[in-house]
Amino acid sequence: LTSKLPSSGTTIFSVMSALAAEHRSVNLGQGFPDYPMNQELIAKVNEAMYNGFNQYAPMQGYLPLREVLAQKIKFLYGTDINPDSQITITPGGTYGIYTSLTTVLQPGDEVIIFEPAYDSYVPNVLVNGAVPVLIDLQFPEYKINWEEVRAKITPRTRMIMINTPHNPTGSVLSENDITELRKTVEGTNIFILSDEVYEHLIYDNIPHQSILRYPDLVERSFVSFSFGKLYHCTGWKLGYCISSPELMKEFRKVHQYNCFSCHSPSQVALSEFLQNKDSYLRLSGFMQAKRDLFHSLMAGTRFTAMPSYGSYFQCYQYHRISEESDHAFAVRLTKEFGVTPVPVSAFYQNGKDHKVIRFCFAKKDETLEKAAELLMKV
Ligand code: PMP
Ligand code: GLN
Repeated sequence: LTSKLPSSGTTIFSVMSALAAEHRSVNLGQGFPDYPMNQELIAKVNEAMYNGFNQYAPMQGYLPLREVLAQKIKFLYGTDINPDSQITITPGGTYGIYTSLTTVLQPGDEVIIFEPAYDSYVPNVLVNGAVPVLIDLQFPEYKINWEEVRAKITPRTRMIMINTPHNPTGSVLSENDITELRKTVEGTNIFILSDEVYEHLIYDNIPHQSILRYPDLVERSFVSFSFGKLYHCTGWKLGYCISSPELMKEFRKVHQYNCFSCHSPSQVALSEFLQNKDSYLRLSGFMQAKRDLFHSLMAGTRFTAMPSYGSYFQCYQYHRISEESDHAFAVRLTKEFGVTPVPVSAFYQNGKDHKVIRFCFAKKDETLEKAAELLMKV
C-alpha cells in the first residue's frame, strides 16, 4: 500500500487521552466536557426513537431542523439562509470541513491554512491531492498578517481556511479581519472555508464574526458547525454545513455517496430543542465562568496565561518552570503531576515549539479545582 498520508501518525488527541487514562491523570487535553449534557435533550432523543424516527433521515437532513437553524441564523446574523438549498446536516464539524474540501479541490490546488491549526485540516487537504500553504499566526497574539496572506496567493490558490474562535489558541477574528479577508478574495475565484464550531463560545461580549453575517462572502464560502460543541455532546458527532445554493448542490453530491444521511432521532430532538433560544444564548456565559474560574485558580501557579477570547481552550507558557519541549513537558505533567494538557507544537506541521501548552476548561468546577491544585506543585 502506498500511504495517502505518509507523514500522519495518530492524532495528538488520542495520544494524550490514552496517556491520561494510563496514568489516571486529570485530562484537560482532548477537548470535551466531563459534565452531563442537558437531560431534556436526551429525553427528546428517546422520545423521537419511541415515536418511530428510526429510519434514514433525508439526505440533506431533517427539514424542521434545517428550518430552525435558518431562523437561528437570521436571528443572530441577520442573513436569510434557505433551509432547502443552503444547509446540510453532517456527522460533525470535521466531516463538514472534509466534505467542503473534497467538493472543490482538484489535485495541485493550493489551500491557505493558518498555524497552529486544528489537526484535521492539513491531512484533509493532502488526501485530496491538494497542497497546504501554511502561514503562521503571529506569535504570541496569534493574529493573521494579511499582507503575508496576499503575498502567498498564486493562480493555484483555491481556498482560504479560517477558524474563529480558534482552536487551540482561543484567539478570535475581528471585523477588520473580515474586511481584510474580503479585500484578499475580491476579484478572485478563491473559496473560503470557515470553521465556526465554537460560534457560541466567545467571551467578554465580543461579537462572533461569522461569515454568515456577510451575504457577499457566503456566496464563496462553506461554514462548518458542530452540535457536539453547542450542546456538550461531542460523542454525538453531529453538525451542519452552510453554503451558497450553487456550492451546496456540489457538496451534497459528495455527501450523498459518503454518509448519505445522519442519525435521525437526534435531528428530530434538536429541531425541537433549538426552538428555545436560551439553549444557545446561555452557552457563552456558562463557559466564560469556567474560563474565569480556571484563570483565577491558575493565578497561584508558575504558568503564564495567554489570553483566551473564545473556544474552550486556554493556553499557557511555562518558561518560568522549564525549558523542555512542550511535548516532553506535557508528558511529564501527566506522569509526575497528574494533569494532562496538549502540546501546541502538535498543531504545526513542522512541530514549531513556542513552548505553549493547551488546557481544556470545559470541565466540572471540581475538575478544574483539582487540576489547579495539582499544577500548584509544578
Ligand atoms: N473544528 C475544530 C477547530 C474543532 O476543535 C473541532 C472539535 N473537534 C471540530 C472542528 C469538529 O468537531 P466535530 O467533528 O466533533 O463536530
Ligand atoms: N476538537 C477537540 C480538541 O481539539 C478534539 C477533537 C478530536 O478528538 N478529534 O481537543
